[in-house]
Amino acid sequence: MIIKNDIERANLIEGGKRLAAVLVALREKVAPGVTTEELDDLAEQLIRDGGDEPCFLGYTPEGAQRPYPATLCVSINDEIVHGIPNESVKTLKEGDIVGLDLGLSHNGVIVDAAITVPVGKVSEEVKKLLYATKNALAAGIAAAEAGKHVGDISSAIQKEIEGAGYTVVKELGGHGVGDLVHEEPFIPNFGRPGQGELLEENMVLALEPISSAGKASVILAPDGYTFRTKDGSLSAHFEHTILIEKGGARIITTL
Ligand code: MG
Repeated sequence: MIIKNDIERANLIEGGKRLAAVLVALREKVAPGVTTEELDDLAEQLIRDGGDEPCFLGYTPEGAQRPYPATLCVSINDEIVHGIPNESVKTLKEGDIVGLDLGLSHNGVIVDAAITVPVGKVSEEVKKLLYATKNALAAGIAAAEAGKHVGDISSAIQKEIEGAGYTVVKELGGHGVGDLVHEEPFIPNFGRPGQGELLEENMVLALEPISSAGKASVILAPDGYTFRTKDGSLSAHFEHTILIEKGGARIITTL
């Protein structure tokens, strides 16, 4: 989406605030014994209470065989992204990490964000993976400037993840957002500075570094949505919707 006027801009900013508030509530709810379905129910209820629409529910991404059946994506440990919370319901355990990815539509403007949250106490090693992936998101946002290119974001994210000793999951990445759940340009989490599409003022993008603590190969589960690491290693994912403004990017989904 390219923001064309103050109304669209205001809707984007308000939608981002609302999405962030739902993610904060979900983060607070995460604890050993909580089921993925309970998280999904809470996400849907909070979005609808605000008068907004969940935008993953019923959405069919390119290449998918059926619409996504839930509001929230819940991906535990070696699940990378798009874990379905209300079909194969799982219970969170102490020491797990859980990725929560959520999108909503506020007055027709779509925002998208994700966090990976520790369940109870996790090891220092796991904390390091989360920290590095979060840092990669910050590095990608810092690189998102009008006049630069998609490759500048990609390479900043890659540097941060690989510099910390982890690998980049290459099949998945960021994207334009706002009018649709997924828009052009695709934003790989690896690449070279100066390459790819030109970044322009008023562009709305979802940046989402996805890392693996082991190898980066992925497998897609029979449910058609859940990606997991082939070697069973942990994966982390953080995402913000951003707006490219004069002088840099504004984070729309600040938690
Ligand atoms: Mg996304």
